[in-house]
Amino acid sequence: MGLGWWLVASESVVVVENLTYAYPTSKDFVLRDVSFDVKRGEVLAVLGPNGSGKSTLCKSLNGLVPHFYGGRYGGRVVVGGEEVLKSSVAKLATKVGLVFQDPEDQMSGLALTVWEEVAFGLMMLGYPREEIVRRVEEAIEYVGLKGLEKRSPFELSGGQMQRLAIATVLALKPEVVVLDEPTAQLDPIGKFEVLAVIEKLAREGSTIIIAEHEIEDVAYFADKALLLHNGRVLAYGPLRNVLRDVEKLKSVGVDPPSVTELTHYLVKELGADLEYPVTLEEAVKIYSELVGVA
Ligand code: ADP
Ligand code: MG
Repeated sequence: MGLGWWLVASESVVVVENLTYAYPTSKDFVLRDVSFDVKRGEVLAVLGPNGSGKSTLCKSLNGLVPHFYGGRYGGRVVVGGEEVLKSSVAKLATKVGLVFQDPEDQMSGLALTVWEEVAFGLMMLGYPREEIVRRVEEAIEYVGLKGLEKRSPFELSGGQMQRLAIATVLALKPEVVVLDEPTAQLDPIGKFEVLAVIEKLAREGSTIIIAEHEIEDVAYFADKALLLHNGRVLAYGPLRNVLRDVEKLKSVGVDPPSVTELTHYLVKELGADLEYPVTLEEAVKIYSELVGVA
């Protein structure tokens, strides 16, 4: 292992090696031998059916697992150069920001306004006033909540509250943003608003890990995918490679994008020689060329 190896390894913002974990009350391990890495600027989609371990994995990145939950823990998780097991949730807060599925879980419950809610984490960490003001305004603007600064967090729509949750995380300028099914609780408009913010973050080069079971929503901007089943990694690699294994996804109850599934059917049943699209946009391009209208 020379210097070259070290340089390559050092590009990874997140390194997970053989992570194995059980909650104190679990009979069995809920994560087993999970390994992956995420490089700076990459977006990793964590896929898997309910109960496959997506949320537990998210919580292992910001240290809630094991520091808050306890339990049996093996392997290694390193985020922004910090080993989670040897660190603390407070120290990890500036390395990794976790956005929960339900935005209400993210609210401090102590802030009376949107502005104060975004400032809360920064105040707890003792940032100077001017820095807090600057970061709060920047984060609120980024997620599109400008004008709502004085509103109570609990008077927001679901989509607004989830964008507020994202702003509270962004204000800390974490090296990695982890989102655990961030649109699962939202109505279609809220979902659209939140996905737009996440997509903007992704396009602007943020390092993102997003757990999601509706693949279609993340296929637009994810680079890699990790498929979990019963706490084990069933597939891992470039998004396209994971999604083209339509049968594997379906065997564990995960729906591939419909355009990928249709293409798979044409390839398998009709012997067509086609590239696999993962978004509608790609499908339009591939199929237009096929029928000679491009
Ligand atoms: P997913 O997010 O993919 O639905 P989870 O990580 O929430 O999966 O759950 C993985 C497994 O861990 C499930 O069997 C679930 O019942 C269990 N689990 C989740 N949270 C806890 C907890 N706090 N204590 C004990 N078991 C838990
Ligand atoms: Mg979950």
